[in-house]
Amino acid sequence: MTDPAEATAPLPAPRVDGERLVARLTELRGIGAAADGGVTREAYGSADVAGRDLVAGWMAEAGLAVEVDGAANLIGRRAGTTGRWLASGSHLDTVVDGGWLDGAYGVVAAVEVAAALAGRPDARHGLAVVAYANEEGARGTQGMAGSRALVGQVDEEELATPDDDGVTLRDRIAAAGAEVARHDDAAWDLAAFDAVVELHIEQGPVLDATGTTLGAVTAITGRQALDVEVLGAANHAGATPMELRHDALAAAAEVVLAIEALPATGAVRVATVGHVTVGPNVRNVVPGRVALSAELRDEDAGRLDAAMALVEAELAPIAEKRGVALRTSWGQRVQPTACDPAVLAVVRRVCAESGRTWTELPSGAGHDAQILGREIPMAMVFVPSRGGLSHTPHEDTAPDDLVAGAQALLDAIVALDDVDQPDPTTEDRP
Ligand SMILES: [Zn+2]
Repeated sequence: MTDPAEATAPLPAPRVDGERLVARLTELRGIGAAADGGVTREAYGSADVAGRDLVAGWMAEAGLAVEVDGAANLIGRRAGTTGRWLASGSHLDTVVDGGWLDGAYGVVAAVEVAAALAGRPDARHGLAVVAYANEEGARGTQGMAGSRALVGQVDEEELATPDDDGVTLRDRIAAAGAEVARHDDAAWDLAAFDAVVELHIEQGPVLDATGTTLGAVTAITGRQALDVEVLGAANHAGATPMELRHDALAAAAEVVLAIEALPATGAVRVATVGHVTVGPNVRNVVPGRVALSAELRDEDAGRLDAAMALVEAELAPIAEKRGVALRTSWGQRVQPTACDPAVLAVVRRVCAESGRTWTELPSGAGHDAQILGREIPMAMVFVPSRGGLSHTPHEDTAPDDLVAGAQALLDAIVALDDVDQPDPTTEDRP
């Protein structure tokens, strides 16, 4: 006979199986593995599909109903009692010779969350565990193709666009075993989702350098692309006196330094010139033309706008002084996405109660969560990247940190299930 007191006693708080989490991540690492520890699972390729199949089995084991949608997203679902949904996941594809945790961690941890909650009394919210397709932008494609399909942002033109190998996105998705004819049906009923939470390695140095285990992400950075063309005059490097030169490369060097100096003024979080083409690029000719590719990143769209104006203002005197023409062209803008105050408040509380060190920080890298975060209240949790390294075979995180992050994700999902509208006024601070 059951003791009535026992029957009504609260269940112990659910725990993730940390050993299994690390073992599964290690097993997944073997798919697309290189001898140097790196992993290559280019989106829609055979290794990516093999990784997806492995994780699909774990989803089924956790009691989820598993589906590959028409955009090649792998989704495991368990319904709740209210028709409302929570989502968590990340991506299984990697860059070429990337690391074992970027993306994979957030997917496998979300499967652990589902497993930890299996067999408990009915949750109010359904849980959707997602491995978003092609986050990284394989073979020159636009990234985040899976998450963008979920919000209806991938159109016919993009599906028909060939990648660097001449294969269209449509054919890639089909080759990955998805029913691409049903691509548009992949779009979610976004209004049914109360929150999406993505767990990810930081891919930067902040948590590692400060010995902090958990990061509550405040916003996902925006990115503004910029191309600068510097037009001087190519001429003989021996016969042209210094005062009569219009050296495009020397002027470009000043442009690089001016852009690099912007963050120190507080105008923008980071600014980078990452690519330079010099013409004619010959030792004995004064450079006549330089093309620079740059980007500005910040968590605030208004600051990006202001920084663009500042760049124009900084460059004008360089052109004047150097006697060159400077042409700026502002390219693609990826808008920043703020985390939802209410969902962030839940993540903060979970971090504060975790017994681990934690802090708040913005995400400097892009994530699928930023696509969904424009439509669904969104938050992210970070764990440290050893040495701040990512997208390299050296990408790593201590197992204990991996387990702590997965537990924080589980605690956040449990807390979010309790409420329809979490309270954004909770005042937990790191
Ligand atoms: Zn990632």
